[in-house]
Amino acid sequence: TPDIRRHMERLAAEGVDVVRVVYPDLIGTDRARDVLLDHLPSACDHGLAFCRAVYHTSPQGDVAAVAGGLDAGLPDVTVRPDLSTLAVLPWEPGVAACLGEVTDPATGAPAPESPRDLLRTVLARATEQGLRPVVGPELEYFLLEPAPGTPTGWRRSPETTGSVYTAGLRADPDNHLLRTLRHLRDLGLGVITGNHEFDGGQYEINLTHSAALDAADRAFRFKAAVKELARQEGNMATFMAKPFGDAGGSGFHLHLSCNDAEDRNAFDDPAGSYGLSATARHAVAGILAHAPALAALANPTVNSYKRFGPDTLAPWLIDWGLDNRSAMVRIPPERGSGARLEVRLGDASANPYLLIAGTIAAALLGVQAGEEPSAPLEGYGYDTSRSTLLPQTLSAALDALEADTALTEVLGKAFTTSFLTYKRDELARFGRHVTDWEFTEYAYHL
Ligand code: GLU
Ligand code: MG
Ligand code: MG
Repeated sequence: TPDIRRHMERLAAEGVDVVRVVYPDLIGTDRARDVLLDHLPSACDHGLAFCRAVYHTSPQGDVAAVAGGLDAGLPDVTVRPDLSTLAVLPWEPGVAACLGEVTDPATGAPAPESPRDLLRTVLARATEQGLRPVVGPELEYFLLEPAPGTPTGWRRSPETTGSVYTAGLRADPDNHLLRTLRHLRDLGLGVITGNHEFDGGQYEINLTHSAALDAADRAFRFKAAVKELARQEGNMATFMAKPFGDAGGSGFHLHLSCNDAEDRNAFDDPAGSYGLSATARHAVAGILAHAPALAALANPTVNSYKRFGPDTLAPWLIDWGLDNRSAMVRIPPERGSGARLEVRLGDASANPYLLIAGTIAAALLGVQAGEEPSAPLEGYGYDTSRSTLLPQTLSAALDALEADTALTEVLGKAFTTSFLTYKRDELARFGRHVTDWEFTEYAYHL
């Protein structure tokens, strides 16, 4: 078709001969095929075939026993390039990337596990409630360099802590951050600022706010791009929640507001309590009420629960506060068109689509229920006598998700079942693994 031809001519003129078609699996890993440019029309017409079990395959290669996977003989999903998302990779000559739309070839409908489609489903609910969610993602990560001979083979790069908000070569001797920021800008990801975080080798990059699906797409591409760029330099970037016991974790804060039908910020109300509209307050109440279940999506690994507080700037309790970084939901001081929530629950390992879909679903349930949140936290948080603890393990969070029928009704049965099966399989694999800690603790003394 002329549209595909036009894209191909433009790409060829830019020296591109490969299109990388990328989509997120259940845990947010970028799965892709590289398509030679000449074959783009056929990829668009027929789609690319991927094994559906990729959604249920762990980074270790284990396939969880999800219905329609192994038991069905490892059938296909069909992935069609979404050419509206084409972008030339600034760091890889000759390659452009785009997102793929994932359908079930038997029905032509979205694959039940497709995180991007799950977010679309949740956004359709928002539209029914007259709201258009707007999201600004903030992601933290660690840059690691090879450390041959150490147990993991990697160490923080550099190790120096205490460099939070230190710009320039003292905190970042290789200029990693500036190079990354410029590449991400050239890729069109809408990055605004970057800063050194609290711990050695830890960085944060903020993305501009936009409609929720676009923000999720950008956060997903951001994580893949940062990891690719680090690899290009012989390093590794990790979005693992808490890679080191002696350093803080990496958060994935979401700034969330909603526009109304007239495109006004529906969270702002100068006459409302705290300068927030009833919609905003109900959204807060919904996020607090569904937080234990939401944790399964926002904090989706065994490791995630080691990031939670106290005294970490990561949350520990289910609470909210006005410009209070020790709370799970912080209301930044801005009002008017900038009125918003900062949901600090998620860690960097979360699949951006699932984190954003889950958070919006919880907020919408709150708006529907019309309840007011408890009084906001005053002063320093982490006081267990004032609020309830977040789930302390992945297992507890998965149980909370399963028990939260209001939330799982929004997320859909097919997705929820797949997700729980995959994650419980992960837990079982972890449960069988003998750790270094056990050896050190027990081997010599018992
Ligand atoms: N690293 C903290 C977290 O895990 C957040 C620190 C900050 O407020 O920037 O969420
Ligand atoms: Mg930060
Ligand atoms: Mg933040």
